Amino acid sequence: MASKEGLLFGTAGIPLSSKAPSTRVGIERIHELGLGCMEVEFVQGVRMSPDSARAVGEVAVERNITLSAHAPYFINLNAREPEKIAASRERILQTARITSLFGGSSIVFHAAYYQKDTPSKVYATVKENLEQIVSKLRAEDNRVWVRPETTGKGSQFGTLEEVLELSAGIEGVAPAVDFAHLHARTAKYNSYDEFVAILEQIEGKLGRNALDNMHIHVSGIEYGPKGESRHLLLANSDFRYVELLRALKAHEVGGLLICESPNREEDALLLQQTYRAL
Ligand SMILES: [Zn+2]
Repeated sequence: MASKEGLLFGTAGIPLSSKAPSTRVGIERIHELGLGCMEVEFVQGVRMSPDSARAVGEVAVERNITLSAHAPYFINLNAREPEKIAASRERILQTARITSLFGGSSIVFHAAYYQKDTPSKVYATVKENLEQIVSKLRAEDNRVWVRPETTGKGSQFGTLEEVLELSAGIEGVAPAVDFAHLHARTAKYNSYDEFVAILEQIEGKLGRNALDNMHIHVSGIEYGPKGESRHLLLANSDFRYVELLRALKAHEVGGLLICESPNREEDALLLQQTYRAL
């Protein structure tokens, strides 16, 4: 697992300095930059053929770049209409299948909106749907980690507690911890002690393995009373990323750290260099 290599740094999507806007060329660029991973973005839909996925997987192995994927934004496992829930499950399954084909380790997604429902009712609905998804993937011998993400807005399902509870309750489900979202959602979670408390909460709930095998998002972020409004460069935001990196290092967290800043690879490199210099 990723733990052997410690924490890998990379971009959400193809680096902006990539010579061509293709996943394969993007992986080559990640390698040239000296980064270690890339999250493949299917946020507008899963548009990659099985043949392309296999070719992507070959480049990733050759360049020793670990891949993950982000499922489409058009997912709501708590939609009013049953057919929209079914379509949401299908989008998660499609993402997991193509990710497995290119040898990716994890998929991440925003699971649901509360609509007008109570958090506990939404939790039960999301859990039931994730159980169906994971059992289908296991029947297909697909071992990709299914990771609901901590979300950035109060209207979105995905507090840290919800994501950890799902991970504890369903084998094959693990958290995608977006630290910028946690900060934007609460205006808290922006100091070394708070970051350490999050890591201890994860370890307490899921065990040490969860810290060895994390999928993390980091970026600068702008937010208001309702949570996130947009991503920013780290330098232009109030997010105390050095303190986060210190906490990750002190707790020997392993896995993937994906940078979602607008300048992608520049902030990913900043994070990697800062981490290594600690
Ligand atoms: Zn996301």
